[in-house]
Amino acid sequence: MSTDIPELKPCPFCGASSVQDDLSLHAFICDGCGAVGPEGHRGEYEGERKAEYADRWNTRTAPKVKPLVWVDEFGDGSQFVGSHGSLGYHARIQRRPSGEYHYSGFLSDSLDDVKREVNLTFVAAILSALE
Ligand SMILES: [Zn+2]
Repeated sequence: MSTDIPELKPCPFCGASSVQDDLSLHAFICDGCGAVGPEGHRGEYEGERKAEYADRWNTRTAPKVKPLVWVDEFGDGSQFVGSHGSLGYHARIQRRPSGEYHYSGFLSDSLDDVKREVNLTFVAAILSALE
């Protein structure tokens, strides 16, 4: 990598500081979450022009995603549905007989912890659909 290229800032999405120069994608890519920087084209993504891509990576900001809205589905605390209406997205947290809350392999005594985990999964899904 040329010394003209500015130092890459940590990933705006996950905070990972390990960012790779991916020559096949013609872009910078995060080792933590796989976020891809603005993609270039062969012949553009090289030499002095590569510094522009580094600048663009360094000025990216993570979009803010609205949190899921939670509803106690049966009104008895046994099952919670988190949804994002306009996307048709929803996820269920179920309370087990042990009292622990469960979502897709994630188990905790704390409903808030499980809701937080579901939200992280939701945000990751949204971000994966963005350039
Ligand atoms: Zn990342």
